[in-house]
Amino acid sequence: MARTILFGISVSPGVSIGKISFTHPAGNVEERRIASEETDTETERLTTAAAAVRKDLAHARDEVPDALAEHREVISSHMLICQDPKLLKDATRRIREERLCASWALEKTVDALCATFRNMEDPYLRDRAQDIRAVGLRIQAKLSGNTPPARDHAAPCIHVAEDLSPADTLDLKVDRILALVTAEGGPTSHTAILARSLRIPAVVGVTGILEDAHDDDFVIVDALRGCVYIDPDEKELATFARRQEDYIAWEWKVRRNAALPAETLDGVRVDVQANMETPGEVDAVKACGAEGVGLYRTEISYLRGHALPDEEQLYAEYAAVVRDLAPRRIVFRTLDVGADKMLHAQTALKEPNPALGLRAIRFCLRHQNIFRTQLRAMLRAGVHGNAALMLPMISGLGEVQAVRRIINEVSQELTAEGLPHEPDMPVGIMIEVPSAVFMADALARECDFFSIGTNDLVHYLLAIDRINKHVSYLHEPLHPAVVRSLKRIIDCAHREGIGVSVCGELAADPYCLAILLGMGVDVLSATPRSVPGVKHLVRNLNAEACTELAHSVLMTSDVAAANRMVTEALSHSLHEELSFHTTMIPTNG
Ligand code: PEP
Ligand code: MG
Repeated sequence: MARTILFGISVSPGVSIGKISFTHPAGNVEERRIASEETDTETERLTTAAAAVRKDLAHARDEVPDALAEHREVISSHMLICQDPKLLKDATRRIREERLCASWALEKTVDALCATFRNMEDPYLRDRAQDIRAVGLRIQAKLSGNTPPARDHAAPCIHVAEDLSPADTLDLKVDRILALVTAEGGPTSHTAILARSLRIPAVVGVTGILEDAHDDDFVIVDALRGCVYIDPDEKELATFARRQEDYIAWEWKVRRNAALPAETLDGVRVDVQANMETPGEVDAVKACGAEGVGLYRTEISYLRGHALPDEEQLYAEYAAVVRDLAPRRIVFRTLDVGADKMLHAQTALKEPNPALGLRAIRFCLRHQNIFRTQLRAMLRAGVHGNAALMLPMISGLGEVQAVRRIINEVSQELTAEGLPHEPDMPVGIMIEVPSAVFMADALARECDFFSIGTNDLVHYLLAIDRINKHVSYLHEPLHPAVVRSLKRIIDCAHREGIGVSVCGELAADPYCLAILLGMGVDVLSATPRSVPGVKHLVRNLNAEACTELAHSVLMTSDVAAANRMVTEALSHSLHEELSFHTTMIPTNG
């Protein structure tokens, strides 16, 4: 048995075996009170160190290969953090008022800023704490005169760190990384995003890794199940060496077949589409065999910069994506931000419960100038190919009707201005809140398609605060309330003759996918990385058996029984396929 087995979140699948190399060995931050005459020198040291880090990052950004161009923006955002007045002003104030040396002042400022971000409700923004921490570490290294350790390891190894920024990861010489393991981080952290695009197995949020692992320890990283085995025994080594080979062979086979249609064994065809967030993913979308884009999350370009994007910037982004992906359909989700998700001071509100606050469509209907700018850009982009609009967090008919009115007005304005646009773009809604489930029959008459946002729907249905770990055990995708809601949404859509897709994570979960197929869902939309695997799973399922399974699951009011039914039923039909997919359903394996 391994000396220690640690658990985390698998964010980029695969299996790796090798020796550990620690990145950013934890250095001690100097904690020294200074005399008043030292304040100028320490302030100067801080600004010089920040400027030097900015220069290093500019260099790292120039080195980013074209295939990974989207990561240049991440490094640019780190460059902005180096100049961020909040960071530098706060640290300078601590030097001047609290008489702390530059390192200590910086450490305290970074801690305070990270704490603010970590308390944010939006996981994307929560993960931005890591960007601040990463930049802080680099400035600390400059202050202490420690340049980052030489990373030119002769042999490939498994990199372990408290956290890694994209600049760190690129410093690591990508072809010499067997896997990444970090103590911090979540599925939307940049390490996760970069690891996925580089196809490096990665497990993040591994508690104990910094304490229990040491340089040169031999480890197994099982990034299919999210485990790290320190000092594995011979038996484990042999098992995982086989598993690694099997996974590589499986992934190769699945990717080679990505262009094949997703048709079940008994001939039922499902559309498998991709979720995307930035124009940089267009190539990945094309390569993964997706038949379209079921969800384009548009918020990223709003959250990145300091200013809101203008119509021309948005139009350029949307038009390029529509053109590049034509004739495939691309579904643009309108802005899904709100309250603390909005970085801009003019719109930020202090809400007691932001998850139930002015989010998504509610935010857009309140800030119509922002919304109309986005709608204009989307309608204009529509003439370049096949685009649709999708509204997030709809909770009732009034919202859809209000948006329809605004779209008409915007379209008339564009006509009056002589700007080419698509006035009849299909308008769909996301079903993510319980009221929309109950109103699904009426809502289906008001829109052109439904897309089920299961990430939010499961949480809102079960009243679980997504960031409260004490109730995370209640996150049960096959809870009878969830299963019955899915069925109702799909049936209501079909009764009104509109299509229904699922664009939350459930679409790529092998067990949930089978239930969704059994209920007759039309489209499954998942990250480009997951698309070939989803299509492959569909090709291995029998639609009629899935219908029977969905029926049995619908009949039970016991979630444990539902979990048992799906795991037992599918262990026969999918066999070892299941072991190459991550799942949210508790299994005994
Ligand atoms: C969802 O809620 O399932 C969804 C796809 O939207 P997001 O994850 O962006 O909230
Ligand atoms: Mg959502």
